[in-house]
Amino acid sequence: MKPPSEDQRATAANPTPGSQTGAETGAGVASPGPARTEPAGGNGRPLPASVLTPPPPAPSPHLDDYRTIIGQAQLDDLHFLARDLKGKSIKMVNSTAVGGGVAEMLNRLVPLLSELEVPTHWEVITGGNDFFEVTKAFHNALHGSSYELTKAAQEIFLTYNEKNRERLQFGEEMVVIHDPQPVGLIRSRDKTRASWVWRCHIDLSNPDAHVWEFLRPFVEQYDAAIFSSPSFARQLPIPQYLFYPCIDPLSEKNKELPDALVQKICDEFGIDRSRPIVTQVSRFDRLKDPVGVVQAYKLAKKYVDCQLVLAGGGASDDPEGAAVLQEVKEAAGNDRDIIILDLPPWCALEINAIQRASTIVVQKSLKEGFGLTVTEALWKGKPTIAGAVGGIPNQIIHKLTGVLVHSVEGCAFQIRYLLTHPDFAKHIGASGRDHVKENFLMTTNLKRWLLLFRILARAKSRRAVPR
Ligand code: UDP
Repeated sequence: MKPPSEDQRATAANPTPGSQTGAETGAGVASPGPARTEPAGGNGRPLPASVLTPPPPAPSPHLDDYRTIIGQAQLDDLHFLARDLKGKSIKMVNSTAVGGGVAEMLNRLVPLLSELEVPTHWEVITGGNDFFEVTKAFHNALHGSSYELTKAAQEIFLTYNEKNRERLQFGEEMVVIHDPQPVGLIRSRDKTRASWVWRCHIDLSNPDAHVWEFLRPFVEQYDAAIFSSPSFARQLPIPQYLFYPCIDPLSEKNKELPDALVQKICDEFGIDRSRPIVTQVSRFDRLKDPVGVVQAYKLAKKYVDCQLVLAGGGASDDPEGAAVLQEVKEAAGNDRDIIILDLPPWCALEINAIQRASTIVVQKSLKEGFGLTVTEALWKGKPTIAGAVGGIPNQIIHKLTGVLVHSVEGCAFQIRYLLTHPDFAKHIGASGRDHVKENFLMTTNLKRWLLLFRILARAKSRRAVPR
């Protein structure tokens, strides 16, 4: 997952969300950052005024709200699994309260666990800019970028971990530390009665060796580690678990929308719903290959009528994003059927509507983490074409829950094929939705946490029995 931006972290750090229980967390804390003053619509089109300022936060759903989606039996399972955990407290620690997938997930998970009477506290570590510069560099290095690990960087990392260790209390039965930034908190383990778990959300398949060797001794002290895909994990002497990332079907990004609202949003963006719509939603990043998507669309367009929507964000506060947006505009030329939208970060509802209005969704990534945009598209029953990279093949089983592609030409072929074979497209769209329902929803994730906490509690009670 992409690390949060400076703005997002700044919002997170002040004030610290502190010890949040489900009751206190309340409605989606995510604050989308400063309001934009410049409209930044694509193709010279200004963005509609309705998206220029952040909307008020949406209310947090309760467990019962998921009944219509997952059914009573699944809800009963969750209550059953939580029964033996009642009153056992959990602490989750990460490095930001807003921005990024981890905070988004914790915003939902923490209240739901607490609603199941597993009291869960969420703490965010604090640090100066020097700390977050180091951890961002670590993040990139763990993803494979080259990096010179200096003594100074190690000192900064360790000093802030120590400061947070002094500040935080660990009185809970289980402690879950998310990602590398707070990994050094494990040094408090011996003073606690807790089981400690490291939840790694990033791909460690090809890390910078020095950074990984620096972090590994911390990781090895945990009782267990969790990765988002088998291919993201490392060899470790501790038990490892697989938790796929997940989406919340009741969030603004994924909830059902009335067709009138989808229509209104399409009208505002100049998207014509009477003709096929091919969409990619992504940050303007070369690894998402938006130029390749334009090329594939142009090849397919020789045979089938369609529009292309490229909805992204980040180009206005990221110089590289702005350069990529420019490349996309140049590749698009003066084709009026290509609609390029540089959206502010709070446009979840608009992205939801655009995905729902789409005939096909594309995610032609060249490199990917898990690829949540794919999960979102599949959940909406959309026939989805995506690059066979990162976690995408976990989601797209070729020709069953979507189609995988490896080239511009392959992508063009599949756009053309799906637009001219609507029954097949509908079939894979429906299977894709089932696949997400089974594996990648918030409620499935909640179930995995409950199972893990039960395993840890049992292991702990076994250790406590004198031989
Ligand atoms: N997204 C968004 N606005 C944008 C582009 C993307 O809200 O302009 C969302 C998208 O819907 C998804 C997430 O950002 O929820 C991107 O996650 P993904 O795993 O696909 O890619 P990442 O950006 O983390 O590499």
